[in-house]
Amino acid sequence: MTFKDYPYVRLDIEKEEKEFFILLEEFKEATSFDIAYDRVFKINEKTNDWQTSFQLAYIRNSVNIHDEFYAKEKEFVNDISPRVTSLKNKYYKALLESVFRKELEDEFGMHLFTLAEYSLKVFSDDVIDLLKEENKLANEYTKLKTSAKILFDEKEYNLSQMGSYLEHEDRNIRKKALIEWMKFFEKNEEKFDEIYDKLVKIRDAISKKLGYENFIQLGYDRMKRSDYTFHDVKVFREEVQSYLVPLATSLYQKQAERIEIKDFKYYDEPFKFKNGNPLPKGNKEWMVKKAEKMYYNLSEETGAFFTLMIENGLMDLSAKKGKVGGGYCTYLSKFKSPFIFSNFNGTSYNAKVLTHEAGHAFQKYLSRDYKVFEYLVPTYELAEVHSIGMEFLTSPFMEEFFKEDVDKYRFSHLDRSIKFIPYGACVDEFQHFVYEHPEISPDERKAEWRRLEQKYFPHRDYDGMDFLLRGGLWFKQMHIFLKPFYYIDYALAQICAMQLWIKSSSDKESAWNDYIKLCSIGGSKSFLEAIDSANIKNPFKQGTVKEVVEYVRKYLDTIDDKKL
Ligand code: ZN
Repeated sequence: MTFKDYPYVRLDIEKEEKEFFILLEEFKEATSFDIAYDRVFKINEKTNDWQTSFQLAYIRNSVNIHDEFYAKEKEFVNDISPRVTSLKNKYYKALLESVFRKELEDEFGMHLFTLAEYSLKVFSDDVIDLLKEENKLANEYTKLKTSAKILFDEKEYNLSQMGSYLEHEDRNIRKKALIEWMKFFEKNEEKFDEIYDKLVKIRDAISKKLGYENFIQLGYDRMKRSDYTFHDVKVFREEVQSYLVPLATSLYQKQAERIEIKDFKYYDEPFKFKNGNPLPKGNKEWMVKKAEKMYYNLSEETGAFFTLMIENGLMDLSAKKGKVGGGYCTYLSKFKSPFIFSNFNGTSYNAKVLTHEAGHAFQKYLSRDYKVFEYLVPTYELAEVHSIGMEFLTSPFMEEFFKEDVDKYRFSHLDRSIKFIPYGACVDEFQHFVYEHPEISPDERKAEWRRLEQKYFPHRDYDGMDFLLRGGLWFKQMHIFLKPFYYIDYALAQICAMQLWIKSSSDKESAWNDYIKLCSIGGSKSFLEAIDSANIKNPFKQGTVKEVVEYVRKYLDTIDDKKL
């Protein structure tokens, strides 16, 4: 069966709830391990059905927002999901209290129980109203941002459509584009400030109701960070400051020399090469064919995986009218099918989709036989090692896509990865400050952001642009509003994925075996346990970041970027 034939069935929540409670009671009253095990299995089948129905509604809505049927279904799913969370938590509670817990732990592994504990910690019926309020505010942010209409060159653009002007080869156009782009945020400054201020206060209130001191620990618990704390993350940020900031600064200097600009400003940052960015040399069909060949060259498993994605119609890659922006990978557990969604635009982004999103999908493919759904979905930092790891491990094959531009592509990929990490740390430190001081004013928040920018981007020059100098840039960062504390994950994953890449340069086979191991573990272990099993060093440990940075610096020294 291919994706388009996967049947969507609206959940009969009353019926599902009844059946679920019968299974739950039978689980609680089980007189033998066999019965308990069987009920866990059946409950899992049920949650697979629910998850698949929800994901089908989301996917089909995002592929065409004008399809009224799936627009309604998505609304329905949003409506009933707190009810479903509450059901799942009842199951988790029973699981933790089961008289057969020891045997169940032996069967499924400890991690399921850890995850169950975290789900219970971060939710109680007392906070449902506040959670709804939090959701509503998050939606307001998304709506406000998508409402942007930027007049440029006598045409109207949304924020992401401004991208090509922001990196335009003509410096004046870049500057003008940035000013117009920024005006949208400046004009709505009060609204953004108000939404965020309310979000911070609501999150603080939720944390206090759940018995936390402030939102920081609750934020970590929501992300199910079971084996590291904010102290570890602080050490990581300090390492970033010591080793990555100098490397990134030197990359900005190289860039300024490469594009021959003496007074390098913020609006010059997106413009990387005088003769344009590296582009893939063919259309979508061509790229998918090349990708299939690449995955067969990489390994038998990746080849079989990618053929399945093609033959079962599990990728919706082209941009089209009515399609939501961006890209993602999700999973339909009932059909054991990953699904990749993207908006191809002819840039190197296309190659990223076919490696990064494919990395997520490949992990899900390798984890497909886990008996519990929880193990298919790793925590975010771990999931990003699967995807960024694939970006790096497919790097030797990029000539297929980029032909004579391949060196330029490899350089710009590494350049982007390195420059991203200080930004990730900046976003993270900002959020720690915000939730530690929920009472401070929006202006004080912006002043702190500006202070952190100076720490993480010492080279940056805003050319006197008032709004940016007052610390307004973070309004653009969706994660700060919608997914608190989710962002350092990408920086952690970069450092882990780079280790795989470094290893592959001297020992391809064992780097690949480590990667396969990591993907097969899926979400069945915590972050540090999983990467340790794949011989990746703990990024929180002093020395790890330094070692990676030293290798990258040496590698970059071998490239004459002015010739690219
Ligand atoms: Zn990703």
